[in-house]
Amino acid sequence: MSLKSLVAGATVVATLAAAAAASTTDAAPGAALPITAPWTGPYGGVPAFDRVTVEQLKPGLELGMAEQLLEIERIAADPAAPTFENTIAALERAGRTLDRVRTVFGIYSSTLNDEAVQAVEREMAPKLAEFSDRITQNEALFKRIAAVYDVRETSGLTPEQQRLTWVIYTNFARSGAKLDAAAKRQLSQINQQLASLYTKFGQNVLADENDQQLVIESEADLAGLPESVRAGAAQVAASRGKAGQWVIANTRSSVEPFLTYADRRDLREKVWRMFVNRGDNGGATDNNAIITEILQLRAERAKLLGYETHAHWRLENTMAKMPVRAMELMEAVWTPAVARVHEEVADMQAIADKEGAGIRIEPWDYRYYAEKVRKAKYDLDETEITPYMQLENLREGMFYMARELFGFHFKPVDAARVPVYHPDVRVWEVNDPQGRLVGLWYFDPYARKGKRSGAWMNAYRPQERFDGDVKTIVSNNSNFVKGKPGEPVLISWKDAETLFHEFGHALHGLSSNVNYPGVSGTRVARDYVEFPSQLLEHWLSTPEILDRYALHYQTGKPIPKELVAKIKKADTFNQGFDTVEYLSSALIDMKLHLAGAQQIDPDKFERETLAALGMPSEIVMRHRTPQFNHVFAGDGYSAGYYSYLWSDTLTADAWEAFTEAGGPWDKAVAKRLRDHVFSVGNTVDPADGYRAFRGRDAGIGALMRKRGFPVPPAAAPAASKSR
Ligand SMILES: [Zn+2]
Repeated sequence: MSLKSLVAGATVVATLAAAAAASTTDAAPGAALPITAPWTGPYGGVPAFDRVTVEQLKPGLELGMAEQLLEIERIAADPAAPTFENTIAALERAGRTLDRVRTVFGIYSSTLNDEAVQAVEREMAPKLAEFSDRITQNEALFKRIAAVYDVRETSGLTPEQQRLTWVIYTNFARSGAKLDAAAKRQLSQINQQLASLYTKFGQNVLADENDQQLVIESEADLAGLPESVRAGAAQVAASRGKAGQWVIANTRSSVEPFLTYADRRDLREKVWRMFVNRGDNGGATDNNAIITEILQLRAERAKLLGYETHAHWRLENTMAKMPVRAMELMEAVWTPAVARVHEEVADMQAIADKEGAGIRIEPWDYRYYAEKVRKAKYDLDETEITPYMQLENLREGMFYMARELFGFHFKPVDAARVPVYHPDVRVWEVNDPQGRLVGLWYFDPYARKGKRSGAWMNAYRPQERFDGDVKTIVSNNSNFVKGKPGEPVLISWKDAETLFHEFGHALHGLSSNVNYPGVSGTRVARDYVEFPSQLLEHWLSTPEILDRYALHYQTGKPIPKELVAKIKKADTFNQGFDTVEYLSSALIDMKLHLAGAQQIDPDKFERETLAALGMPSEIVMRHRTPQFNHVFAGDGYSAGYYSYLWSDTLTADAWEAFTEAGGPWDKAVAKRLRDHVFSVGNTVDPADGYRAFRGRDAGIGALMRKRGFPVPPAAAPAASKSR
């Protein structure tokens, strides 16, 4: 670090502050941008969504980066010998402004995405990548981190401080901190190129989701669709200026119900093709060339960093540690899952033949005929369940679960007290049994244009305590189709499970009880983070939730016991489909990233790999390669889609801890779960945390039982070894 860079940094800050003040009309001259200001107001401060605008995103990011670089330079140039306090804790303290701006930027990107936001994304993605490299490549800083790291076990640090030091050191080392100057430059180039490609990839998928749709003009074409699906399609049509017609949007929440119920086979095929070809249509939004380039850059980067492949690099700091261990688990489940699919297809074909349909089951028939098999085999009709699945009641059910298992009490926040970024968003405060504030929960349930599809949790602010008691702010986001005004929103059983899943992530964040933000809440290994959320899906089907909260939207009567019994009986129904749909994506992801530097044609690779795996022709991957946002819209889940299965191994095993004890509401097991899983963040190794909860490692047996697959003799522990 030199004095020159300090001065240069200061100049940047001054210039940006002036520019920012000049560019906002509502700010007094010289006042900071609202987006960069510390959060004020109740609950230890909340995001000022009422004062933030798209125009502030770019100057806000620039100001935040400049400020953090200054802070970093100060830490690196500290004349005092490196200590945990002046290096690691100081790093935890740095970058607060940028954290706040990035939180808002993330919300705009995922839920308010329009042309203006996309322009900021395109411009800022490579700059943010470069910025992040400037920090991890700061030699003086890394020397100080390494000095603290080397003596972490003998310098009187707490276990949490030791773990945080390990996390930060490892992140720096894995990001190229040990490379020479030339290699660092090359790495930074690659990261910037990748950042731009990720942005383009995600925007292409979103464009195909926004721009393509099936418009239905004649009511006859809706044959088979239940009332709730028709109402949703009418609502989407109205919102797109086609009142009186029906629109099937090109998103999962619109497409899947249509494929399940529509009698018109030709329209099912049309909708199916539209959905599975997102990002694969040729033209300006085609992602194939982008994928080839991303894979090559990732392979190059892995080599530069000293790893065999991108997959080896990505898995190093996960629970699985090695691609081979993730592959072993996937392959152990793949074979029985494919065998189950063949049985499922045979059942469906039999029904189609009996009806005299004269068809062979194709992918656009799977959901439709599976529904008929469900009716025939289990006398279970999904449309019988939906009237009991009122979104707002189920939300109350989740609050009940949170109270019983976690001691959390949810109270709605007066809309005037906490600003939101869209009128659909509502906020609750969460308190412990003593009435002390735990945090805030924002809920953004409805689909709209510019919101990415799917469901997710977002932590606006992690819990921390080392510099004052900071309460967390978390949010849950989903894409339910808003019903007519005044009418309850009815959701499917699967959607209800997803609702509980995302709420599980929120509770993971809310339960956090640590000192440092870098190891707080959901900031855990990627193949561990889905475990708490998947586990909480199980509580939906408990009588305590269903009897109280699954109430018929017209009669108010609870869901009948016989219907619940049928749901339970059909628990492992269609698991062949669910597992193969998911696993084919996870296997393609891993194999793409184990393939090394070869020039990959994504379509060809997908086709040939699936053929070699014995992919049943009646199923398509849950995320085909050209629309696989998990893997190509960022690094996040690259070589990491297996994580859901890995986590589910723990989930299934952990659920059996409850069923072996007093049941889902067993107080002692719930306490162990809070103490060793939900509250510890990344302060302990996940394998150790799990073992402390369960008393042993997880095996694969519970997972196979959960999915109704044969349990292999002497099932090998799948997710057991610690680092
Ligand atoms: Zn999740």
